[in-house]
Amino acid sequence: MKPFSDYHSHPQGHRLQPYDEALLQPWADSARAKGLTDIALTDHDRYHAGVDFDALDRVRAGNPDLKIRAGIELDTDPVSGAAGRAWVEKNWEHLDFVLGSVHHLEAAEMFDSAGQESQFAGRLIDEIYADYFLRVQRQAESGVVDCLSHLDLIKIHGHRPQTDVLTLVESLLQCIGARGLAIEISTAGWRKTVGEIYPEKKIIRRARELGIPFTTASDAHSHVQLGEDYDRLGAVLEECGIREVAVYERHRRTMVPLSRA
Ligand SMILES: [Zn+2]
Ligand SMILES: [Zn+2]
Repeated sequence: MKPFSDYHSHPQGHRLQPYDEALLQPWADSARAKGLTDIALTDHDRYHAGVDFDALDRVRAGNPDLKIRAGIELDTDPVSGAAGRAWVEKNWEHLDFVLGSVHHLEAAEMFDSAGQESQFAGRLIDEIYADYFLRVQRQAESGVVDCLSHLDLIKIHGHRPQTDVLTLVESLLQCIGARGLAIEISTAGWRKTVGEIYPEKKIIRRARELGIPFTTASDAHSHVQLGEDYDRLGAVLEECGIREVAVYERHRRTMVPLSRA
């Protein structure tokens, strides 16, 4: 069983690049080549100025065989986070899907960037995990997200808590479940130092017990990465008993059986 949707992608990469057909068509071509039928464009909110809904509509018209969702990855950047949130609120009706992310702890730099392992030095890893999950919970409670991305990103550099991660993440999962939000299962962790899917399987299983729906994602920063490692992802979904995934249109969720995809 191979997933058919990729709900985390960055056409602009890590710089402002206004949406037009030249930028977006390679993403549609790559989706089609990889057998994906439903993708969400979720650039970082700090590049919201590049998002052009009219350009996206033109690309949709030229690729009627694909569902291409308008999305954004909203994080808690101390500099751009507030403006990002204001943009999401203003454009809520144009957006299909909003990912909630946390890339920042106390420092101004994203903790998940290369070289930022220093943010973990000399600190109790259990406390960092608890702090991180609390920040994700605030994103879940923000009222402007549909789904939480890379839920256990805090493990990215390979730091593991002494306490069972399920104990640390339980109240966040309860919050996500109570609010009817989804969690993404992302192959991106496989290409990082930690070498593990986001979130790890025991968190996926606990979320499933709580009835939380899942999206599937690659966090592609190049169209080449779209749907990366999806054969391996399909095996994990099967192993965890996941038979359907969430897709979104104007924030309205539909569950699609994987077997029919
Ligand atoms: Zn992210
Ligand atoms: Zn991302």
